Amino acid sequence: MIRLHDTLAREKRPFVPLNPQRITMYVCGPTVYGRAHIGNARPAVVFDTLARLIRHEFGEQSLVYARNVTDVDDKIIASAKAEGVDPSVITERYERHYLEDMGALGVRPPDIAPHATQEIGAMTAMIERLIAHGNAYEAEGHVLFSVPSDPDYGVLSKRDRDQMVAGARVEVAPYKRDPADFVLWKPSDEGVVGWDSPWGRGRPGWHVECSAMIERHLGDTIDIHGGGLDLIFPHHENEIAQSRCAHGGLPLARFWVHNGFVDMGAEKMSKSLGNIVTPAELLEQGHRGETLRLALLSAHYRQPLPWTDNLVAQAKSTLDRLYRAAGDAEPEAVDEGFLDALHDDLNTPLAMSRLSALDGGALRASAQVLGLLGSSSADWFQGDTDAAAVEARIAERAEAKKNRDFAAADRIRDDLKAEGIVLEDGAGGTTWRRE
Ligand SMILES: [Zn+2]
Repeated sequence: MIRLHDTLAREKRPFVPLNPQRITMYVCGPTVYGRAHIGNARPAVVFDTLARLIRHEFGEQSLVYARNVTDVDDKIIASAKAEGVDPSVITERYERHYLEDMGALGVRPPDIAPHATQEIGAMTAMIERLIAHGNAYEAEGHVLFSVPSDPDYGVLSKRDRDQMVAGARVEVAPYKRDPADFVLWKPSDEGVVGWDSPWGRGRPGWHVECSAMIERHLGDTIDIHGGGLDLIFPHHENEIAQSRCAHGGLPLARFWVHNGFVDMGAEKMSKSLGNIVTPAELLEQGHRGETLRLALLSAHYRQPLPWTDNLVAQAKSTLDRLYRAAGDAEPEAVDEGFLDALHDDLNTPLAMSRLSALDGGALRASAQVLGLLGSSSADWFQGDTDAAAVEARIAERAEAKKNRDFAAADRIRDDLKAEGIVLEDGAGGTTWRRE
């Protein structure tokens, strides 16, 4: 039985899906206007791991996992303007990079990846319903959600009204009836991306995007809603308010699951602070995606994760040890103790320590639930070496032996050994591996 910490309940609860044949999970995806950093990669890896665990538990076809792409946003519009290109040039470029970067970390694409620009109809329909129910109003080309119309507003973040107004840093605009009200729709100026709507040409606010996509693709109430801790307020609070008011009070999600931040020193890694490290640059430096994935899973997902060079080095040496212990074994049954650790609110540090005690096929099968040890051990140990250069020297050595120049042959073997490469002579010729 999987137990998950639910932010709304503020406790771990047994995860019993509404329909075990169609478990629904939605995670707020990227706003595609720049390269993802390691902090952005954490939810992608965490929820990919949770998806793998659910599929292991309930069956490969049991889960419908949706992660949206926010491809209309003021930051995108600003980037497009700065480059003098259409916003789609920016969004297509950075979505491609996002999928490449996350793919390198072993993150499988979600089952559904709805794009905001393709879901405008679902959003305007939801906004019209909210207006009809008295939960939203039109003012000066904007449509705003009326926070005082929802007595349960604040249930997720448990903030009082003043904290909410301060925390949301919402614009105090003359057309707002209440300072806490937030934008569902806003007008687009001439030359700015926009769509026709009952309230004039404009574009949606960010929050309504997720509510409308969840309704359209997954249903009124989903099993799991995920995202980073920073989304609890205002984004998820607003999603809850919109969806519940549009659905006659039905809850939006049965479990709210939030991952902690990646920290750089004392601060959260964030684009606005300028202290970011990206998977792209780490991969460029020669680190492997699997190493970065393990580093991201090394702390419990709800804890902060301090990102350091040492963390990455540790992850690399852990993987070296695990690949050695797994050897050539094919995956067998997943270890029970390992699963128990993951069942307890995805306790990856405990699961990792359990892995250290395993070897062979049980190790390989268990690690694969975490999206690790997917390569052969030979590929892992040879992967970061210039294979062509090693092969060239092996050929040189074979030539030397043929000429009975054993001193030269031994010298090549010793030189390679000094570089951490071990040669093994067998019936089929010479093979090599990293020590
Ligand atoms: Zn969202």
